[in-house]
Amino acid sequence: MFSCTGYAAASAKAPLAPTTIQRRTTGPTDVRITITHCGVCHSDIHTARNEWRGTLYPCIPGHEIVGHVAETGASVTKYKVGDRVGVGCMVDSCRECPSCKAGLEQYCEPGARFTYNSPEANGQGHTFGGYTQSIVVDQDFVLKIPENLDMAAAAPLLCAGITTYSPLVHWKIGKGHRVGVVGLGGLGHMGVKFAVALGAEVTLFTTSASKVEDGKRLGAHHVVVTKDENAMKAEAATYDFILDCVSARHDVNAYFRLLRLDGALVQVGLPEEPLPVEMFSLVHKRRNFAGSLIGGIEETQKMLDFCGDHNITCDIEPIRMEDINTAYERMLKSDVKYRFVIDMNTMPQPT
Ligand SMILES: [Zn+2]
Ligand SMILES: [Zn+2]
Repeated sequence: MFSCTGYAAASAKAPLAPTTIQRRTTGPTDVRITITHCGVCHSDIHTARNEWRGTLYPCIPGHEIVGHVAETGASVTKYKVGDRVGVGCMVDSCRECPSCKAGLEQYCEPGARFTYNSPEANGQGHTFGGYTQSIVVDQDFVLKIPENLDMAAAAPLLCAGITTYSPLVHWKIGKGHRVGVVGLGGLGHMGVKFAVALGAEVTLFTTSASKVEDGKRLGAHHVVVTKDENAMKAEAATYDFILDCVSARHDVNAYFRLLRLDGALVQVGLPEEPLPVEMFSLVHKRRNFAGSLIGGIEETQKMLDFCGDHNITCDIEPIRMEDINTAYERMLKSDVKYRFVIDMNTMPQPT
């Protein structure tokens, strides 16, 4: 074991503060990573504050991790010291169930081991995320970051990136498709970039007229302000695919009506309350309504390589570690364009 400094919530009501944790010694198939940056995901807030129940304390969130390899175990073949690497939402899985065998570790049947708030493999304690100086991860759950991508701006690809890329690829989105992206935040801004890069004609749907310019700057071909009922009506039954990135309560039926025959709406935002579904809006055009959770390890690497080839990164606002509590408050007001990323060199020492 070795000690490292991290930023933890001691309870649901406590602000995050510096603390010292123990990490395992680098095992034969492990990679020890010196973390340079960690993105801040909405799931971090939900978990730190026990809003999804079941949070284990102390809680160190963070699953958009990038850094450099500091040490490799004796049997590690995939990485060497100094490599630019990333870790996303998972650090292990059972590796034997049909989902794992299909490269869909995120749907592992006994359950993937998540980067934070999962039981440790040895049964002692729980996993700690990326708001720390170092992490030790099995090489099979470590990703390569393409050389041409800025490390800080690449960090959120590990969650926001794969969450939006995976459904677009699974539903085979490309040239000739009309795609809608609902909501312009951490997820939505990546959804727009990926759908455009895949060759689709992309419309951003936003509640906020102030986001029209940004939507276009990010590459959207059209932006519809959803409060404009006539503009919404004009789009009826013209979309092949809609990626819904909204995690607050909203009317999904308004978006079902935009889908063509056999079109699909995939929900990646996670509203806390159930969303009412009008069956009429689905049955009339045999429309599909689905959800999607991050992506498998192999697919995450493909997404990173795609980003390298197309020069895609996230729009970020860098923060110091001690600013994390303020950043959480700003995220709750959607006051970030479009992801906070912690510079881990600013980690204070515990007092
Ligand atoms: Zn996340
Ligand atoms: Zn499995």
